[in-house]
Formats: sequence, structure tokens, C-alpha cells
Amino acid sequence: MVKAFTQLDRVLKLEAEQGYKNTAVVGGIRQFVAYWVTTAREGAVDEIDRALVEQVAETLQDYARLPGVEARAEVVDSLRQKLHAREERLAHLPRPERRAPAPAQARTAASRERTVSKPVLPVPQKARKEVEPDPEGLSQPVTAIHGVGTATARRLAKVGAETIRELLYVFPHRYDDYSVMKPINRLEYGEQVTIIGTIWETRARRMRSNQVMVQTIISDGTGRIQATWFNQPWLAEQLPAGTQIVISGTVEQYLGRKVFNSPQWEPLAEELLRTGRIVPVYPLTKGLKSHKMRQIMKEAVDEWAPRVPEPLPGTIRERQDFLTLPEAIFQSHFPESGEALHAGRRRLAFDELFSLQLGMLAQRREWQAEPGIPLSPRPEQLEQLIEKLPFALTGAQEQVIAEIGADMAREVPMNRLLQGDVGAGKTVVAAAAMVIAVAGGTQAALMAPTEILAEQHFQGLRTMLAELGMNVRLLTGSTSPGEREEIYTGLADGKVDVVIGTHALIQDVVEFHKLGLAVIDEQHRFGVDQRAALRDKGGSGVNGQERPHNPHLLVMSATPIPRTLALSMYGDLDISVLDEMPPGRQEIKTRWIRPSERERAYAFVRGQVQKGRQAYIICPLVEESEKIEAKAAVEEHARLQNEVFPDLSLGLLHGRMAGAEKEAVMRTFKEGESDILVSTSVIEVGVDVPNSTVMVIEGANRFGLAQLHQFRGRVGRGEHQSYCLLVSDAVSGDAEERLTALEQSNDGFMLAEKDLEIRGPGEFFGRRQSGLPELRLASLLDIELLELAREEAQRLFASDPLLEEPEHKMLHEKVAAFWEDAGDIS
Ligand code: ADP
Ligand code: MG
Repeated sequence: MVKAFTQLDRVLKLEAEQGYKNTAVVGGIRQFVAYWVTTAREGAVDEIDRALVEQVAETLQDYARLPGVEARAEVVDSLRQKLHAREERLAHLPRPERRAPAPAQARTAASRERTVSKPVLPVPQKARKEVEPDPEGLSQPVTAIHGVGTATARRLAKVGAETIRELLYVFPHRYDDYSVMKPINRLEYGEQVTIIGTIWETRARRMRSNQVMVQTIISDGTGRIQATWFNQPWLAEQLPAGTQIVISGTVEQYLGRKVFNSPQWEPLAEELLRTGRIVPVYPLTKGLKSHKMRQIMKEAVDEWAPRVPEPLPGTIRERQDFLTLPEAIFQSHFPESGEALHAGRRRLAFDELFSLQLGMLAQRREWQAEPGIPLSPRPEQLEQLIEKLPFALTGAQEQVIAEIGADMAREVPMNRLLQGDVGAGKTVVAAAAMVIAVAGGTQAALMAPTEILAEQHFQGLRTMLAELGMNVRLLTGSTSPGEREEIYTGLADGKVDVVIGTHALIQDVVEFHKLGLAVIDEQHRFGVDQRAALRDKGGSGVNGQERPHNPHLLVMSATPIPRTLALSMYGDLDISVLDEMPPGRQEIKTRWIRPSERERAYAFVRGQVQKGRQAYIICPLVEESEKIEAKAAVEEHARLQNEVFPDLSLGLLHGRMAGAEKEAVMRTFKEGESDILVSTSVIEVGVDVPNSTVMVIEGANRFGLAQLHQFRGRVGRGEHQSYCLLVSDAVSGDAEERLTALEQSNDGFMLAEKDLEIRGPGEFFGRRQSGLPELRLASLLDIELLELAREEAQRLFASDPLLEEPEHKMLHEKVAAFWEDAGDIS
């Protein structure tokens, strides 16, 4: 785990040796850092380390743009010193544990020094106010805080803080640890430290680069040290001789002497906010200086954190030895030590995961409140379906169909998530479940996120199911009014056995005679509410049903997620995994190419077409609007057709086309009448044309990893070797990481983990898409805490599932509020 840091040090050393030309790594320092950050984050042993990683990332991000050798040298040297200081620090760590922050204990020698200089410092405020909880007060606008006017309030609103309560939950994104105090004569190179002294003199000088440099000499009686700031000429006036000052920073070396470069400072005062302690660093908001932000937060936390009511039952708090909520909030903003910080954040993270788990348990309970309809697990028709398939089922498909059969045979409605990478063969599994439903005298519905996908499922499933004598219909926004009426009637009187469609399925007018199975494809594209709406089509007790029931529910996802994570994420679902690809699948060869190599990509496409294959060209994502995106696609299609491939036939697909039009384009392509399909991201899911073997993705950097993997899954579906060309300039660190990961792997599960790493769980699941509440402090990767939350939630749920007990009232409200966001959005 030390490796990442050693590696960075080696690179920086090489960079210094080569004269700071940004040549130490191929592709530049910035690109290196983009990769480095992920491993380093993992290797970080404590909060200080994590802070260091973020600092390195921030500093080196713009390395190439630093004005000259001098500035680069400064950055490199100071980072290297920090890395060396880190080694020092770790050498003193008694037993480096992953989650042990304990910086105070870690520095045995340092803490001795601290005691020496301690009397100089004002004693940290320990006795916090004992006050009554004040939920109403917390709901006041932030302007109720001393020093916050309307202009500041507007800026705070941008980070999501309109009320005091919200402000308390805007947490630092990192911390700088300046809690080590030392006398000047004991300073050592490279250490992060705080000193207190008196200014001897301050001078401002103009440098050759025309920057202004302010230098002060500070003395504390044991020694003297120089501190330098660049480009802050006003400091000369703010730091007159005689001022008592606290300086925090890294001790650096200049011409053989110890110095501070651009350290944090503040006048020696009652209470230190930026120096002499673990200093919070807040997400920056335009127009709000970090210094000011800290002051506001201090004000808010001191006054209001003690008034935050405690929702967590005392038994749980005691069992897990958690801080109280007010204390946890306090320590997460202005930690008194590394341990206190860790304890504070852990408590707050637990709260989120606990609410998440309680919400999911409630959902599961609700979903299974009505009985399901028990169906035969292996009706004769299922064997017929399997016999008629042009291929043999994979072992994984067999297994999953058995799991589903067993679920559907039970009185309790099935609640199952089927995970399988793109192309793993989920459709056949869905077909099998549908056969079980229809053979048992009920109906089945499949909901897909887009019309194209619904249409395609319809084509595929109708072929399979009609042969068994089932009546299969398609219902989307483009279904003609006449046909729609007919389908409504057929569903209500039971003549239609299987309906496949889009959101059109969950409209109020749609009523089923007896819905036995609801299947949702690409479930991450639907919200919780939409899933619930489809399920509710089962149980109104109308239409002569004997009694209300819930249909069995099968949700499918091509976004593979690590299993432990899936268990905790979808605590309300049982999980099946298709972890085996149908035989004969080839690795899709993926290359990231520069726009300058585009001509070669076209030549390659042409070569494939000459061999009788087909190709996709995906246009860049335009986020502003679908309209602009469509326009760009139309232009690109015209350019390609007229200038690049005049002799070939090119189709065009974009989101502004009517359903029938899209379908016609798809059919033409599928039947091989067009050679190349130019498309926007609407192609994303499910499209299945086995003869297409090459996909060119323009502006690949704009798409997310999961989406790129989805696109790529459109090729390599037949017997021919397939290719994916990602066209993109050298781009941001994240995008480079994504593109490289795709080049290196075809494994959806591995890519999912990578994606999770790059984006963090919040983004990974997509708040909009997952229907899950946003997590601010908790990480879904913190399996240990997740399991704990799950366990406690189950325990509480067992005794009071509806959270009706008076002592759970506040918790109930909190869980509801936590989930409300997610519900609103989906
Ligand atoms: P996805 O899991 O992405 O929805 P599909 O169900 O669309 O995958 O299946 C991808 C392709 O693989 C389809 O053309 C399908 O007919 C084919 N297929 C599915 N199962 C098998 C199998 N056991 N053997 C061979 N081909 C299969
Ligand atoms: Mg599919």
C-alpha cells in the first residue's frame, strides 16, 4: 500500500532530474496522476494520507500549466518533502491499520513536543453548551447566523445550504492536520507543523517574474524562521512587526535554511480556525473565501450543532459506542483529534446507511405484504420453449431459470434482481419466466426504458412465445390509438397474455385481468416509483379477481455491480447473476484513437463493410438538449454519407425521430440494407444485430464508463471478430482512465468496479437513476459499516417495523426525509 506513494516519489525525482519538462512520464504528469490517485486513495492509511492524496491531485492537475521551471520545481520539491514526511510519520506508526486515523498517537515524538509548547496556546474549547434540541430553529434560513448576509446566503445556497440544518451538513471535503506544535529550533524538514511566534520584520519584494513576494521573519525565542507568500502584496500591511502569529505549513528547505512557503497563518487569537489544529477544508464556492467559510461554519456549529435532536435510539448508540449526533457534527467540522474526526464521520456515515437500510426493509415489507400467485416452477411449455431455441442454454441461464421458478412457485411474491453483463442472455431468462406466468393462467408484462428496446424485445420475444400459442403485444407511446384501445381491452379481459412496452404500461388506464409477472429491463433507468407502479398493476382486486395480489417481480440490469455491494444496495431484492457468457463470444478489440487518426478508422470501417459486415458510428453526447444533439447527428450523417462513404448506405438514428421512423431505420439496418448506422446515444441499450462488427464512438470522453461498455456490447454479438474504436483527444484524468480501462478489459464486472472507483458510488448509480437517496458521508464501499447498519436495521425492524414506538418517532421522520429526495426525483 506504500507503493503508490513510492512510485509518485520516483516520478517526481525523475522529473526533477530531467529539469521539470513534464517528461518524467509518457503523456505527462497530469495523466500519470489521474491513474495514481485511484491506487493512492486505496493505499491511504488515514485522514492525513487521504488529505495528502487530494492535495497531490489538486496540485499536479495543472502542472503542465505552471509558468516556468521555478514554479514547477517549487511544486515538485514541496510534494516530495511531503512524501518524505509521510514516510517518517508511518515509520512511527505502531501498527498501520487501514482505518486507524490516530495521528496523535502516531507521532510519539511529536506529541512530546506538543506538550512542551502547549502552554503558549489557548486551551481548546471543551465545555460545549448543554442546550435543548431546537428543530424549528434549525429550519431558519442561514441568514440567522451571525455574519451571514443575503449575498453570502446566495453563495451558500449553491452548495445546497439554505437552512441552518443544511449548512451543518455541508462537510469539509478534506482536512489539513496542523495539530503538531513545535518550537522553531526543533523543526525538521518536510514536517507539517504549527509554530507560534512574533513577527520581526516583513518585506515585500518584486521578483523578476513581476510577482510580488512577501517575506516575514518570525521568532519564538528558540529560533527564527522565514515565511514567504507569493502574489499577496496586501500581506505586507497585515503582518507588521510585533504581531503575534500562528503559522501552519510544511517546513521546506531553501538555500540550506528552513523556511515556510505560502503557509496558512492567522493572528494568535482565542480560537484557531486555520492553524494549530486539524483544519477543515470546505468545497469552494465562488465568491466565498475558505477563510470566511470556516468562520461561518464555526459560528453555525458552535451555536447550532448542540441543538440538533438525536434520532438514534440510545441502545444502538451505546452498543456501537457512537458519538451523539451533535458531537459527531462538531467533530466532523472542527475535529479535536484524528480519532475524534474518525468517530464523528463514522457516526454520520452510519446514520445515512441506517436510514438507507430501514427504507429498503420497509419497501420489501410493503412489496411482499400482498400474497403472490403460486405458479408451477417447470410447466411443460417451458420445456417446449427451451427445445425450440436455436442454442442450448448456458449453465448460468439454467441455474437462474431454476431460481426464478422456485421463487414463482411460492405464495410470497418474487422480488428478484437479475444481473448479467451485456450479451449474457437475459432475454431468454425473461422469456422463461413469462412462460411460467402464462402457463399458470396469469399475464406477464415487460417494461423497457426506451421504445427501441421495447420494440426489439417485442420482436425477439414474440418469435419465441407466439410459437407456444401466446398472444404477445407491444404498447409504447407510438402505438396507434386504435391498437392501443384494443390492447387495453385485451389486457383487461385476459386475451393478451404478454405485453411488452415502455412507460406506457404504467399509465392508469392500463388494467390487467391477472398480472402474474412484471419484468423490468435495465432497471437502473427506472425510479422506485415506476417499479412500484408496475407492480401495483397486480392487485386492485378488480376485474373479477378473487383477491388482491402482487405480481412476481423480476428486474434485470446489465450494470454489473460487485456482489457484496449489490446485497447492501438492493437489500430489498434477491439476486441472481448470469456470470457465464454464451459460448463462442469473442473479445471485442478496443482501441482509443486520436481524432487525427480518424481517416484510418474510416478505412477500417470500409474494410469491414467490404467483408460483408456492418458498422455503427456513435455521435458525441450533447448535454444541452436532445434537439441540438439530433441536429449534430443529422449533419454528421450527411457529412459521412456525402464525403466519406458516398458509395455505401448510411442509416441515421436519433432521439427526435418518431417511433415508427426509428423502427424503420433499425429494421433496414438489421436486414442488412444499410451498411453503417450513424446514431446518437439512443442506440445504447439492447440493440441486437449480430452482423455488425465495428463501432466507432466519437467524443468517447463524454460518455461514462458503463455507457461506453453498453455501446460496445452492440458489436461482438455474432460469430465475427469485432472492434470498438474510441475517438477522443487527450482529455481530463477521469476520461483518460475510463478509455484506458475499456481498452484493457471486456469484463463488465471489472469495469463496474473501476467505474465505482473513478466516480464514487453516488455518481456510479446515478442518483436520478438508482432511485436511491444521496449519500454524503457514507461510502457504499465501506462494507463493514454497511453490514453494521444492515444488522442494526434488521434488529430494530424486528421489534418495530413501522417505527411506531414513541422513541422511534424522530427516527421515522428522519428516514422518511432521507428517502423523500429519492422519491421526488424518480
Ligand atoms: P442481454 O443479457 O444483453 O440482454 P440478450 O438476451 O440480448 O443479452 O442476448 C444476447 C445474444 O445472445 C442474443 O442474440 C441471444 O439470442 C444470444 N444468446 C442468448 N443465450 C444464448 C446461449 N445460451 N447460447 C448462444 N447464444 C445465446
Ligand atoms: Mg438485454
